[in-house]
Amino acid sequence: MSGTPIVMGVDIGSTTSKCILLRDGMVLGSAVESHGAGTGGPQRAMNAALRSARLEAMDISCTVATGYGRNSLSVADTARSELSCHARGARHLCPDARTVIDIGGQDVKIIRLDGDGRMQDFVMNGKCAAGTGRFLDVMARVLELEVSRLAEVGRHAKEHLEISSTCTVFAESEVISHLAAAARIEDIVAGIHCSVARRIVGLARRTIPQPTVVMTGGVAQNAGVAGAIQAELCLPLRVAPLPQLVGALGAALYAADLKQEDST
Ligand code: ADP
Repeated sequence: MSGTPIVMGVDIGSTTSKCILLRDGMVLGSAVESHGAGTGGPQRAMNAALRSARLEAMDISCTVATGYGRNSLSVADTARSELSCHARGARHLCPDARTVIDIGGQDVKIIRLDGDGRMQDFVMNGKCAAGTGRFLDVMARVLELEVSRLAEVGRHAKEHLEISSTCTVFAESEVISHLAAAARIEDIVAGIHCSVARRIVGLARRTIPQPTVVMTGGVAQNAGVAGAIQAELCLPLRVAPLPQLVGALGAALYAADLKQEDST
């Protein structure tokens, strides 16, 4: 394969592995696979992305890894932090992004950027799962729903039932109490979305968020959470296209920079 080099970004998260292949800033292939750091997920994601682009591993001229498991990918030329990669990817997709809200399986990152896309400030959640994908995964399981269906179910809510505890264990008990009281599942789901939004906006306010606010990460696929965050934040919010792949995209853009530096 000749011409402009093909580069790879791999985002090894806590719950999923993501891979994207770029040439000249164009996406040639991508994949999201379940299972993240310390599993076969990263290799499966790379294989699936290569297959989708009809390429072989030897066609890749530079690979950058990011995410929780970024230092464990032996085929990577180097690694970059998740903060840098999410900021870079979000800014590439939304050039006016000044605040990035990334919600993954275990982490929440709020990144504030200056007008040139440089990181000015950031805040992350602690060890607590409140406001993360894990919180939503646990609640979906209690409600016997796929996490991918929460937004659709929450859309039919007539009211938001209060989930007052941010602790996943206590919040799960509250959801069980609502179920035992024969509350509508739609109203419980809307309450869960509001609970996540309150937690995220509480964190985001520490960075004095500026528009345009862009949401990335797997949870951004839940329009119910995105809508609740926008309402709580009182700022317009855009969901990045293919939000779960934004970190991998940022890593691939760094890989393209490295190739560019090599050739100059
Ligand atoms: P990580 O990088 O930490 O592994 P991701 O950014 O991949 O995390 O996000 C994983 C989370 O995204 C899951 O915990 C789940 O709650 C949420 N998620 C995954 N797929 C969907 C979907 N189709 N709809 C809504 N939420 C989703």
